[in-house]
Amino acid sequence: MAFAVTSASSAAVSGSGFPFSSSSYELKAPQKIGSFRLSDRAVNFSQRRCSVRPVNAEPKRSDSVVPFAATIVAPEVAEKVEVEDYEQLAKELENSSPLEIMDRALEKFGNDIAIAFSGAEDVALIEYAHLTGRPFRVFSLDTGRLNPETYQLFDAVEKRYGIHIEYMFPDAVEVQALVRNKGLFSFYEDGHQECCRVRKVRPLRRALKGLRAWITGQRKDQSPGTRSEIPVVQVDPVFEGMDGGIGSLVKWNPVANVQGQDVWNFLRAMNVPVNSLHSRGYVSIGCEPCTRAVLPGQHEREGRWWWEDAKAKECGLHKGNIKDENVNGNGNGALHANGTTPTIPDIFNTENLVTLSRTGIENLARLENRKEPWIVVLYAPWCRFCQAMEASYVELADKLAGSGVKVGKFRADGEQKEYAQRELQLGSFPTILFFPKYSSRAIKYPTEKRDVDSLMAFVNALR
Ligand code: SF4
Repeated sequence: MAFAVTSASSAAVSGSGFPFSSSSYELKAPQKIGSFRLSDRAVNFSQRRCSVRPVNAEPKRSDSVVPFAATIVAPEVAEKVEVEDYEQLAKELENSSPLEIMDRALEKFGNDIAIAFSGAEDVALIEYAHLTGRPFRVFSLDTGRLNPETYQLFDAVEKRYGIHIEYMFPDAVEVQALVRNKGLFSFYEDGHQECCRVRKVRPLRRALKGLRAWITGQRKDQSPGTRSEIPVVQVDPVFEGMDGGIGSLVKWNPVANVQGQDVWNFLRAMNVPVNSLHSRGYVSIGCEPCTRAVLPGQHEREGRWWWEDAKAKECGLHKGNIKDENVNGNGNGALHANGTTPTIPDIFNTENLVTLSRTGIENLARLENRKEPWIVVLYAPWCRFCQAMEASYVELADKLAGSGVKVGKFRADGEQKEYAQRELQLGSFPTILFFPKYSSRAIKYPTEKRDVDSLMAFVNALR
């Protein structure tokens, strides 16, 4: 792994300050207020705050608290950015360690790259950056709804690494409008996207407009629905960097291939400060109202936006992860180039499972027609999540044969989709419903755990 050979004089250490008054901060002349000793990769600080180019803020706003924040000022890189084939680079680095990937990222982008720090286990990124011995920058999105424990971790991290996190805040006018119109908890009623857009995505967009690259803590094992194909480096498919336009920003994911347990082993081994919420069952940590602890064995993403469907569990920061399976825009599966729908074999095939027609499920939905409880999957045969649960659902049907609980399937894509969304709580595929014998309303299976034991526990709890 190549480490930087940078003279101490080329690197300045600086901190951030929020310019509440012009007398307290001089923004015109950046000061050099610290030093690096790269020979032993130690960083010394004699003073923590000065002015540097910030992670971007809206230049037109004069009344905002503009985060003239900085962590450690990296050496300027040449203005001309070489053209790089990032797909090829991702292949080359696929088996590299997170430390090596981090080093490569910092070496390549200097002061034009920053680590996005959420206040959770992605603190590992900061430790990796520190271990490279290179200067690095860190930014965080302060949504105004974080847990106190997260703010405490921010403070601990700043002290341990001698850095100032470059906080990005949401636009006050936008937050005001949202909260005045819809209240403080509108996300429980109409989904988290709007609030996340105001409090997270737009501040992130502003931050990234001041960069050429960013570093995230995304891992493939975090969300089976959305993060299973993350490369270690990619041209950002969603956001723009300072040069503008698609392709102007590079996204590094140094721990993409690391398992959560290995991240924790690393954090413990290096004695890195962590969010105290982790010791109370929190795995994935975001805003306080939208994060909860999970039980042992539950997937970490079940602790985020638990009232919504699994596939919607990206806040918009990484929405490029969401592959559009609905190429024709209505959830009917991908089209061939000539506009025809490819023939895809049906799934969930066993004699113990009833295939319901539209009339069949309409009858089932009427309580007076129901003679016994049913569990029914709403599915689309082309959906890879449906395909992934085929074995467990077939096994469930075989186990429940003769038990008094009927098992069914209803193909809910194509022209049935609108009806299924309207009448059957379909959000994304697969949706699993339990129709109790004595209650008219179907109960939606709430988690992403679709192994046979979890499904059986759901049935037994309700039958
Ligand atoms: Fe709002 Fe929740 Fe999104 Fe935070 S996570 S920005 S509180 S919807």
